[in-house]
Amino acid sequence: MSTPSRRGFATALIGLTVKAESTITGSFADRSTAAGHKLRDHARFAAPARRLRVPLVIVGGGCAGLCAAWRLLKHGFKDFVLLELEDTAGGNARHGENEVSAYPWAAHYLPVPGPHSTEVRELCQEFGLLRDGHWEERHLCHSPQERLFLHGRWQESLEPDIGSNKRDHSQFRRFQQLIEEARASGQFTIPMQRGAPASSPLDQISFDQWLRSHEFDSEYLHWYCNYATRDDYGSLAAGTSAWAGIHYFAAREPEDKGPLTWPEGNGWLVGKLMERVRPYVRTGQMAHRIERHGTGRRVYAGDTLYECDTVIFAAPSFLAAYLIEDAPPSPPLEYSPWLVANLTLERPPEERGYPLCWDNVLYNSAALGYVNATHQSLATYQERNVWTYYWALASATPATARRTLIERPWVQWRDLILDDLRRAHPNIRSCVSRIDIMRLGHAMPRPAPGFLASKARLALAAQERSLLYAHSDLSGLSLFEEAQYHGYRAADKFLKRANRG
Ligand SMILES: Cc1cc2nc3c(=O)[nH]c(=O)nc-3n(C[C@H](O)[C@H](O)[C@H](O)COP(=O)(O)OP(=O)(O)OC[C@H]3O[C@@H](n4cnc5c(N)ncnc54)[C@H](O)[C@@H]3O)c2cc1C
Repeated sequence: MSTPSRRGFATALIGLTVKAESTITGSFADRSTAAGHKLRDHARFAAPARRLRVPLVIVGGGCAGLCAAWRLLKHGFKDFVLLELEDTAGGNARHGENEVSAYPWAAHYLPVPGPHSTEVRELCQEFGLLRDGHWEERHLCHSPQERLFLHGRWQESLEPDIGSNKRDHSQFRRFQQLIEEARASGQFTIPMQRGAPASSPLDQISFDQWLRSHEFDSEYLHWYCNYATRDDYGSLAAGTSAWAGIHYFAAREPEDKGPLTWPEGNGWLVGKLMERVRPYVRTGQMAHRIERHGTGRRVYAGDTLYECDTVIFAAPSFLAAYLIEDAPPSPPLEYSPWLVANLTLERPPEERGYPLCWDNVLYNSAALGYVNATHQSLATYQERNVWTYYWALASATPATARRTLIERPWVQWRDLILDDLRRAHPNIRSCVSRIDIMRLGHAMPRPAPGFLASKARLALAAQERSLLYAHSDLSGLSLFEEAQYHGYRAADKFLKRANRG
């Protein structure tokens, strides 16, 4: 759990000038940027003080690495360590907590897994989410789930309705028909490896080109599709492969009962995984070099040199080039920068229209709106609250957006967030007491045109010997199910080689 009051809080920014804002405190909550830059700059690291022999080292304690560990333990294999750079495991599924509520620092839900997602269903059964074929009601997102702020008021659902005309309606219907056909083709599955072809004409054009080639010109439909690609990939439809854009809509079950969600978001899943794998996890341990050693590997992390037969590399694959001696070429993926802010509210702000939902989105905002962290609470009225505000910096190139993300001071981000929300909540400034901000420079891969057929991506996923890749970016689609699938598969490959499967 990463609470904003921990040591090493060099970036705390309190003390404001304008009287009306004087009660809004907060800070940046991210801490690992400096460590990442040491890797990027090929900085020198101290020589290890001790050497440990262990058959398997997992590098990276996000959902992929934790699921690999979970799978190994289920097979009774305990001779491994998992090294995680941060002080807490979970990666993009970490969470924080204050006196009002727990809240996510990024991933906040798991769609109810469909029939292809056998590995996720297995995990859900073990964690008590799925019992005798029934999903536990208290973990399914309660109503009302989604609303959109459009033309000065909130409406139910994210599909723009206020002010829409016949043309918009008929284009949405035609779009849904095409998605139904795509779903029926069987190629859009989760995990994607169950159905994805090795290449597709849809991967040669952008989602925006695909929409235009089907003569979709409804502004509402284009907004909706851009919202979807920004939400799942951090990219605009013009920068997203049409195959990935269609996957967003076609891979989910049409009668989705979900999603599954918790105040701490997917931190709940991390908590359940950690209950099982905690003794094997070493946090605050950045692997900074991985080299060949006979038929095995050496991993340097902190003051320790680990000698092992196999490494499961569950850190983002672009890092391989910086720390693995003979790294195969990384896939040509761009990573989207994101900002996630947790706003503590002392009282509910003013608003008009449909009431507060779990997911609250503002039409034509550069950001993606906010999720209400206390939505699953059974309390009928919540005076204080936490909102998790999401912003994929999608409109600039990732490098430019990353620079903006890091260089802009907390005060400016605070004002941009509040200005955006003020459209829907005029008195928001007087209701918020604290804003904590997580900057995620390389938050998730962008599935740009050509990602599906990338030979480098497929080669990493097919690695067999002493180095097994497992991060969700092997899919190019950043989803819990993909992370779990790759962790699970890497563990199975290892067990098979070690004759323990
Ligand atoms: C803002 C945001 C919102 C999201 N929302 C959702 C959602 O609601 N639902 C969903 O399913 N998915 C969501 N995702 C996608 C999410 O990324 C995946 O679900 C999943 O958590 C990815 O897990 P992973 O293990 O593959 O990668 P990561 O989470 O990236 O984990 C990699 C881990 O490796 C560690 N690491 C890196 N370098 C080193 C090193 N050198 N040594 C040791 N450790 C290292 C990192 O600290 C990290 O813990 C979201 C992503 C973002 C950014």
